[in-house]
Order: sequence, then structure tokens, then C-alpha cells
Amino acid sequence: MTEIVLASNNKNKLSEIRGILNPGKVRVLSLDDIGFKGDIEETAETLSGNSLIKARAVWKKAKGRVVIADDTGLEVDYLAKAPGVYSARFAGPQCSFEDNNRKLLKLLKGVKTADRGAVFRTVVAVKYGDETEETYEGRVKGRIALSEKGEKGFGYDPLFYPETSGKTYAQMLPAEKNSLSHRQKAVLNALKGIRKKLHI
Ligand code: IMP
Repeated sequence: MTEIVLASNNKNKLSEIRGILNPGKVRVLSLDDIGFKGDIEETAETLSGNSLIKARAVWKKAKGRVVIADDTGLEVDYLAKAPGVYSARFAGPQCSFEDNNRKLLKLLKGVKTADRGAVFRTVVAVKYGDETEETYEGRVKGRIALSEKGEKGFGYDPLFYPETSGKTYAQMLPAEKNSLSHRQKAVLNALKGIRKKLHI
């Protein structure tokens, strides 16, 4: 079985990515699983830059395994693509998901539905045992809800309606979100590349 290290301990991301990758063929390990300690500073100004920073940092401890790292941003049209690469700390350095959602709703107060367009974008960086690197993207267009809807998921999920659905991500069961999400598209693109490279 091929082991892939995901450069994250985020339980939501791990379970989403484990659900997307074929569990019979690929085993996804977390940073804890490989004993990686310490914080990785995401200092780049692009999603692909940050995903590569994470993949490279973890690769040094991955003992020749493939490492994948994702970085995600929500780009809101009305806010000139903010928060984008700064999505995690939109409301400040130690902010919660709830703080970010509250700030987003406040900035869009009074903005009508037609002007609440947004794109969720994920970049997945892959670094192989032979040190080669690739990046893959997945994006989903949608709009920002007028108020939080749904209890599932994480982050901006209660505020994002993908354009192909009448439900926010947070109103979907995990399998439904995984079947259409920005992360799923990026991970599947990455998986295609990994299969080709490793002949699996
Ligand atoms: P990260 O840098 O990839 O961890 O993502 C940055 C921020 O985007 C996270 O802290 C979350 O607030 C948000 N985010 C990432 N992925 C998702 C998702 O699938 N749904 C909702 N919010 C997300």
C-alpha cells in the first residue's frame, strides 16, 4: 500500500482527504503519525507558495514518502478576492472560525445576493521521494449566504453555497461535500499525477 503524508493534523482535512483517496490503495498519514513536531510558518503570498512551504518542510522528515500539502482560500468578489490566502486569520491572529464568519457577514452587510459571488480555491502541492514537486488546483464557484446555515463541516462552510447546490457546505453530509468540493477537485487532480508518477 502506498503511504502518503498529509502535511496537516487538521482532523477535518484528514478525514476529507482519506474519504476522497482510495482507502484500499493509499494510506494517508498525518504529521502526528510520522512524529513531525513544530509549526510551519506560512509566509508566502499565494496558495501555491504556502502549500509548497508546507510540503517541503514535512518532506525532510517523511523518509522518502510522497508528501501532500494543501492550502485553501475563499475569494470573495465583493472584497476584491479577500480573504484569499489570509482566510485562516481573517479576523486576527488567534481568531476562531466563528470570528471569521462574523467578520465576513459584517463586511457583506447589505450586499445583495447577486453580488455575493465567491470562489473556494485549494492548491495541493506534492513532493516526491526523488525531490520533484508539482502543484494542482481545485476551485468551486458559489456565493456567500446572508447568514450562517448548517452545523456540519468547518471554517467558512456555513456561509458557502456552491453554485451547483441549494445547500451550504455545512448543510451537507461529509460524503456530499467531498463529492463536489474545491479540496476534492484539487486532491483528485493531485492523485492523477501521483498515480502517473508512481505507476499505482
Ligand atoms: P488552510 O490554510 O488550507 O488551512 O485554510 C485556510 C482557512 O480556510 C481555514 O482556516 C478555514 O478557515 C478555511 N477553509 C479551508 N478549507 C475549508 C473548507 O473546506 N471549508 C470551509 N473553510 C475552509
